[in-house]
Amino acid sequence: MRDFDKAIDFLTADLTVLDGVGEKLADRLKDLIGGRKVLDLLFHRPHRWADRSRVDRFDLTETDEIQTVVGIVQNVSSGGRGSKLQKIRLADDSGFLTLVFFNSNAGYLQKQFPVGRAVAVSGLVEDFHGQRQITHPDYVEDAAHIARIPLVEPIYPLTAGITNRRLHGLIMQVLSHDLVFDEWLEPSLLTSRKWTDMRAALTTLHNPEKLDEDQIALALERLAYDEALARAITFRLQRLATSKLPAPSLQSQSDLIEKFERVLPFALTNAQRRSMDDIERDLARDTPMQRMLQGDVGSGKTTVAAYACAYAVTSQVQVAVMAPTEVLARQLHKSISEMVAPLGMSTACLTGGIKAADKRETLEKAARGELDIVCGTHALFQDGVAFDQLGLVIIDEQHRFGVNDRARLAQKGVSPHLLIMSATPIPRSLAMTVHGDVDLSILDEKPAGRQPVETRTLPASRLDDVISAVGRAISRGEQVFWVCPRVEDDEDGSSAIARHAMLDDIYEQKVGLVHGRLPSAAKEDALEKFRTGETSVLVATTVIEVGVDVPGATIMVIEGAERFGLAQLHQLRGRVGRGTEKSYCLLVYTPPLGVTAKTRLDTLRKSEDGFYIAEVDFKLRGPGDILGLAQSGMPDFRFLDLTRHQGLLATSQKDATIRLKTPDTPLSSAETALLQLLGPPEGAASRI
Ligand code: ADP
Ligand code: MG
Repeated sequence: MRDFDKAIDFLTADLTVLDGVGEKLADRLKDLIGGRKVLDLLFHRPHRWADRSRVDRFDLTETDEIQTVVGIVQNVSSGGRGSKLQKIRLADDSGFLTLVFFNSNAGYLQKQFPVGRAVAVSGLVEDFHGQRQITHPDYVEDAAHIARIPLVEPIYPLTAGITNRRLHGLIMQVLSHDLVFDEWLEPSLLTSRKWTDMRAALTTLHNPEKLDEDQIALALERLAYDEALARAITFRLQRLATSKLPAPSLQSQSDLIEKFERVLPFALTNAQRRSMDDIERDLARDTPMQRMLQGDVGSGKTTVAAYACAYAVTSQVQVAVMAPTEVLARQLHKSISEMVAPLGMSTACLTGGIKAADKRETLEKAARGELDIVCGTHALFQDGVAFDQLGLVIIDEQHRFGVNDRARLAQKGVSPHLLIMSATPIPRSLAMTVHGDVDLSILDEKPAGRQPVETRTLPASRLDDVISAVGRAISRGEQVFWVCPRVEDDEDGSSAIARHAMLDDIYEQKVGLVHGRLPSAAKEDALEKFRTGETSVLVATTVIEVGVDVPGATIMVIEGAERFGLAQLHQLRGRVGRGTEKSYCLLVYTPPLGVTAKTRLDTLRKSEDGFYIAEVDFKLRGPGDILGLAQSGMPDFRFLDLTRHQGLLATSQKDATIRLKTPDTPLSSAETALLQLLGPPEGAASRI
């Protein structure tokens, strides 16, 4: 067997092949490292590296850092009878340092720290009322054996019951195997980037000789590239596989676009037209469309989606439209219906609130092919919707859908065309890494006549001013969204329920309330009353975050604005400024503002450009937190840090294209093996 094959066998084996790992530990590790294979351990990334090289004098130690020192034991004292606390005082020429132990065996401590002995200790140095101390040092050695304390120690994300030393020990056990990886990167790339081979990169992370930040950064970069490349190739392969599936080639009537435009109360933007052309071209092919329509809130994605629906329906297939929440599904259904009903197309909305009999009827009609367009949430597509002739699936705000939802949908029809809509404007190379190999249409143009939304930030102490401003707007016949951070139980009265009660008094019962805990009928009722203008103010939690469209709304009040994320605030603000009246977004915050919160609010005040805001958001958020990946069910990357490694993405995609240029050439065995090691977990790709 070749060395590389041996390595692959070992790395893809279950964790229990390791010494000291039984079922129980393997299960516990699984949640931490994301799998039960040896490779999951090897690819568990340290989040920092502790420098345990010796600090010469106590007075040179840094507080709140891991430090290693040598001192003479002066005395061992316990906190008195019944106390569980024991202290050992060390001295050196520069001063003192106290070691603190709780619940430790006194006899054992006496033995380990005989007075007068020189000991080397390593641990987190803290300041306790002006005194240096280390509580439960990580290492205690006789000074003569200081070399037993590692100079640099990787510090890993941990879970209950597993210490860093234990985890590190297991990883060292993996590394002690004779792991040989075939190189799959171009030598020129390695040279120009100053990258080492994979084995050396892993050693740099898990067992570095000295703390060299540059070396570590290069090692991480190399592994991030491996991961990006594996993902790019996998997505490309999935795309190739999808492109071999049969999809209905949809040919529509040539005058459809004119008919559609006649229904609209506005002229299409150029960006909308371009996207519609893209979609038409894709739908006419006999392989499934894999397109993402990207556009900031309010850029008019729903109109494009409605056209795609109309196009599909006139060529005799059915359309499924999915939204992430029931409120949004109904909103989407309403908007699409308004545009396609005049063209004689039938639509239905399948959400939780509807009567069982109505639901059954809708399901039957869909199955008989008597319904053209069915909207709903993913929940409904899970239980038993069958279509007679499903030709197109549209997914709104797809990053909120789990990967499994998408796969499940795929089973509903014979490889339908797919259109994904996203309000998160991200660069193409990033979209390709996160969403899979999709084609992009971008709505980079706001509909004409849009006025900028004036954004102001105000401390909560000026709530009275906000209340009067809203009162004036209402008397002019305008409408107001009022967003609260919580449904209830907030001390300062900023919960949706408390605020609704208060405002309803002030504005004489013209105030509606919508939040996630209401039954869907009540939610729908509140939204409908606001839409029709029966209520002037809608107090809401972030249920209204995406998609809700009320052109008469001119003010967006967001309370507790410091608690929301940047992208979320931008989405919320996008609910106003849709009509022709001047609109405002009032960000009410509770001081004092932290640095990040301040940057967020300032960014919003200064900009309405979704791309720019997304970029700032990137910088402010931590890795792995981008695009709400965690909530989307999209697995995190092990090494790839989308904030730091963006530059690698385009290169990895080019590389993947070159490797797959002739689609039928099989991958080399190294490529196949590395895909297995570093590729996305099963189902991560976009494949419908
Ligand atoms: P998105 O889904 O991208 O957030 P919508 O499709 O909901 O945006 O459109 C937002 C608002 O703009 C809607 O009220 C819609 O009717 C309107 N709209 C869409 N396209 C245009 C256009 N070309 N000109 C003027 N208004 C438009
Ligand atoms: Mg929308």
